[in-house]
Amino acid sequence: MAQDLAQLAKERGIRYFMISYTDLFGSQRAKLVPSSAIADMQKDGAGFAGFATWFDMTPAHPDLFGLPDAASVIQLPWKKDVAWVAADCVMEDKHVPQAPRVVLKKVMAEAAELGLYVKTGVEAEFFLISPDGTEISDSKDTAAKPCYDQQALMRRYDVIAEICDYMAELGWGPYQNDHEDANGQWEMNWNFDDALLTADRHSFFKFMTRSIAEKHGLRATFMPKPFPNLTGNGCHAHISVWDKDGKTNMFYDGHDEMGLSQQGYNFLGGIMKHASALAAITNPTVNSYKRINAPRTTSGATWAPNSVTWTGNNRTHMVRVPGKGRFELRLPDGAANPYLLQAIIIAAGLDGIRSKANPGKRYDIDMYQDGHTVKDAPLLPLNLLDAIRAFDNDTSLKSALGEEFSAAYIKLKMKDWNSFASHFTQWEKDHTLDC
Ligand code: ADP
Ligand code: MG
Ligand code: MG
Ligand code: MG
Ligand code: MG
Repeated sequence: MAQDLAQLAKERGIRYFMISYTDLFGSQRAKLVPSSAIADMQKDGAGFAGFATWFDMTPAHPDLFGLPDAASVIQLPWKKDVAWVAADCVMEDKHVPQAPRVVLKKVMAEAAELGLYVKTGVEAEFFLISPDGTEISDSKDTAAKPCYDQQALMRRYDVIAEICDYMAELGWGPYQNDHEDANGQWEMNWNFDDALLTADRHSFFKFMTRSIAEKHGLRATFMPKPFPNLTGNGCHAHISVWDKDGKTNMFYDGHDEMGLSQQGYNFLGGIMKHASALAAITNPTVNSYKRINAPRTTSGATWAPNSVTWTGNNRTHMVRVPGKGRFELRLPDGAANPYLLQAIIIAAGLDGIRSKANPGKRYDIDMYQDGHTVKDAPLLPLNLLDAIRAFDNDTSLKSALGEEFSAAYIKLKMKDWNSFASHFTQWEKDHTLDC
């Protein structure tokens, strides 16, 4: 529901709006606009120089405008005189085709044409670390199996409860919080909803979690693998597809042994078919590939996948069907752009539905122990370069997200990779000095 932001400012005592957009690398960029100027900004948008952020633009490009989507507005529960509002990027009166939120809306519109409305929930894991980023923030949090550690959880009660209270206040339906599998790691869960709403909430959650951690003298990181021996930050996505009214889950079939409908299997088939390519988006950083394909962590398991397999209620595979009428993609990590994450899942799933893709054999084995026995499942990309190349070779995914988006994304990510590859490391010296 569109609302008048100036009016809202009066009713709620909002003094400033953060007009916020997310660039291709997932950074949130904002202008802080006083409420006295919000009426014009709501019409015309706030101006930015696209080149100054992660878009494939030049300094000569015209202004990029962030046009607030008033339906997304969130008054900051911890700073009530400010409200965040997600913006769609516009240039010369046209949507910027490579802007992540624009890409997601485009893919959702295509799904809607087929009568499909995707709902998702994300599990955005994070660490609470020292402000300088060198270590976890709780020196007592040293257990070998720290998952659900009650004592460590309560040592961070002030941070976790504050964030959870805010989610409740915002009506997100938070339902549990826990210490995760790595020392210093947390997960907070709220209810699934429409893909765009979940993407906006996911973005806001990252902003809120970082802000509240800072307020408590800590730092929150969603980095995929911040510490080599500890379990990394996943961002699992749970997916189901509904009819227009959101009443009927079209993935649900009570007669099927997994509780999945034919459409559900086809959507899953699309995810399986495009897995290596979609990793370029779900696992978008150099560091992402230290989380998947990783050696066993000190807790005993990485909880991240290595290859393209699916299963029932078993957390060692890329896809798990934890219950009837939905599945969980365990591939994405904390660096995934909240909008592109949803967009790529929907794009791959739609292709699966259109092509009646078959997800292939289900493996009910412990992949960490017995994965070597599976001969017909592709390995996930071993590094960012492999993933970018797989995405570049996937013409159907590229066109589903839009040619402009895909070209821009590949170009910027290749630059990212090249910057990493040209970085001189101690490892090389240690292994090559005496060659
Ligand atoms: P787990 O750790 O077992 O994978 P969590 O409870 O941490 O699961 O997270 C599950 C996520 O899946 C939540 O965001 C939840 O709202 C969401 N979810 C539950 N049912 C569905 C569904 N039918 N469609 C989409 N998401 C769902
Ligand atoms: Mg200036
Ligand atoms: Mg979870
Ligand atoms: Mg988790
Ligand atoms: Mg999960």
